[in-house]
Order: sequence, then C-alpha cells, then structure tokens
Amino acid sequence: MGYRRKTCGYCGSNHAVLDCEKLQTDAAEAKQAVAEYDTKFKHLHEKAILYDEAYTYRREQGADGRIQYTYIKNKDRAYVQRRVDYHIHTEYEYNYDSMPDQVSNEEHHEISKYRYKTKRSFQNIVTKNDEVRAKADARSKKSCSYCREAGHTVRTCKVVKADTAMHRTAYQISAYRYAMALSRFGVWTGSMAVREEGGAMPLMASIDNFNPSVMAYDINEMTTSSRRKDPDSYTYTTDSAEAYAKELGITIDDFQDFLYFRNAMCSGIRFCQVGEDGWYTGTTLRVDSSEETNFDQNQYTPNETGIKLYKSSVSVEHIYSVIMSKYNPPQRNGYNGNNRVAWVRSADDAYLSQLDLFAKKKRKVQAYKVMEVFIQNNQDILNKIKELSV
Ligand SMILES: [Zn+2]
Ligand SMILES: [Zn+2]
Repeated sequence: MGYRRKTCGYCGSNHAVLDCEKLQTDAAEAKQAVAEYDTKFKHLHEKAILYDEAYTYRREQGADGRIQYTYIKNKDRAYVQRRVDYHIHTEYEYNYDSMPDQVSNEEHHEISKYRYKTKRSFQNIVTKNDEVRAKADARSKKSCSYCREAGHTVRTCKVVKADTAMHRTAYQISAYRYAMALSRFGVWTGSMAVREEGGAMPLMASIDNFNPSVMAYDINEMTTSSRRKDPDSYTYTTDSAEAYAKELGITIDDFQDFLYFRNAMCSGIRFCQVGEDGWYTGTTLRVDSSEETNFDQNQYTPNETGIKLYKSSVSVEHIYSVIMSKYNPPQRNGYNGNNRVAWVRSADDAYLSQLDLFAKKKRKVQAYKVMEVFIQNNQDILNKIKELSV
C-alpha cells in the first residue's frame, strides 16, 4: 500500500495538520494575545495601519551604490486621514503631525508587521487548534478495525501478521492431510472411474475445481452427535471420535483420512469423459459412508454407482505441492474461499460448518481459535511438512 505525501493545512510542511507542532505553539501564543489584545496588540495593529497609509516607499541608490528603500511621509494629510478612518472605526492615539518625515525600511517593517494582527486573526488560530486537537484526540481513542484494540491502526496491527501466518500454517496442515487421504485412496489426476456395465467411456479425475479452504477441528474434543444406540431405549449418548473410529473398526488415523477424503470428494474433484471439462459436465463421486472405503486395501468403492475406481499412484508430496500452489491468503476486504474455515463439528455428521474469518473486516475469534488448536494438535504433520520442503 502506498502512502501519499501529506501537506499540513496550517504550515504547509510535510506532515498531517493533526501532527503540526507549530500550530500548537502558535495557538498558545495566540491565546495569550487574545487576552492581552486591548492593552497590547490593538495599539500595535492601529499603529501599523497608520504607518502603512501615511508612508510611501522610495527607492534610492546610496553613496556605496547599493539600493535602499526609505519610507517618506505622505504630504496629503486629508487623504491619509480618510484611509485610516476607513480601517479604524474607534478612537486611535496617533498624532499625524508628530510622526517623522521619513523612516527606514527596517523601522517601517517592524511597525507594519502588526498590520493584519487583528483580534479575530488570533482567535482564528485558537479555534483552528481546538478543532484539530479534538480530531487528534478522537484518532487516539479510535480502535484498530481488525482487532478492535485501541492505540494502533490495522496497518501496524501485530494480530494481522500473526493471523496471516496462522492461517497459512493451518492451510498447510489441512493440505497435507488432504494429500495423505487422496494419495492413500489414489484419487488424483491419473485415476479413472469405469462404469462396470455397457462399455461406457471411462471417466478421468479432474482437480481443476478442487480449491479446498482450511479444514480444521479439535480431534480431542470431537464427539459424535447424540445418538440412540439401543433401539429399545430412549437414552441418547455421544462418543469420542476415537470411540467412534473403534466402532467402525478403524484407527483414529484412518478416521481422519476418511474425513478429508470424504470432504475432498464433494469439494470439486470431478470425473469427466475425455474431452469434457468443467463443473457442469463432470460427475461427483460422493462418499456417503465409511463402508465405501476399504482401509486395509486403501481402496475406495463407490457403492451406489456401479463404478470401479482405478487408482492413481501419485505421491503425498506431489498432491501437497499442488494444493499449496492454490493457496490464497485471507482477504478481509473481499470475499474469497479462504475467508472461511471448514469446521468438522461432529464425528458422524456428513456436513461441515463454515466459520467466517471476518465480520465487517473484524477478525472473528472463534475461527482463529479453531485453527490455533488444530495447529497444536497437528505438530507431527507440521514436522512431516518441514521434512518435505528441504
Ligand atoms: Zn504544520
Ligand atoms: Zn489491531
């Protein structure tokens, strides 16, 4: 983001008027001047008007050849009187006749510099400063639009930097877990789905539309939804994810692969005939139950479609690098898919909750909390990622 050069509306220097120190010192003096005006500045101001009107400068070359300016008293006294009366409406205390016939440039300047020092001009500086101070106070009380802490703006917000880094780390872990699951079941470019009846054309896997956002959850807190285990009883219970996996006859690692695999298959991985491309022509192979995935043979068999899947032998590392190449950082100023975290709410629920990262440009605490815990729980995955990138 570029910064515009600032010009102070008061002194013209390169700073915002809210930061102008000259205005503050001038205003302190002006306040004093307003208080003393009638006894001090009124007199000097009137004298300056009189001298401006009564004298006309003359340009002379001195004996040394240098040009000098001298101020000569105007002979037309009645004219001077009219001019002064025009500017000063009250009594003033100068006697025209007692004024010297000529004054030097320096003397004249010293007197006439009070020409525009009216009471109003001093008051204007005080008023201007009061307005600017009020704005500066409001600025210092304003809170950061990102984290709502006072005393800094989003440009210098440390939470933005930490959140940006956290989002990328959570995305890396999520990408790696997708890669483990997809590599395990062999679904990626190169895999093929063949309809078992009628000699139909094989369908080729397409990943063009697969742009996953962070998928996160706390595996230690995850439970099943309330279920009635005994059909004869009306007691509802929940189980831990680990107990649920055991019930399915798989390990907790198998279960996590299953979560990512199931979500990947309905998040943009398409199967298309050769020559087809795009979202509207392809087929999605939904994974509705863990029974479609054989964890001993790492084989996915969609049970309703009569389709046999031929696996791709693509590596975890390759899938991971492709998913990472699709990474977009969150953008609080606009919508993109990475402004959300897909949160697995319960172990047996086929659907994901979407947590927004921002509300009206402010960070949403819950989404970042979910990612933070997800990162803590997946240090082993982070270590594997570090080994990859060497
Ligand atoms: Zn200034
Ligand atoms: Zn902040």
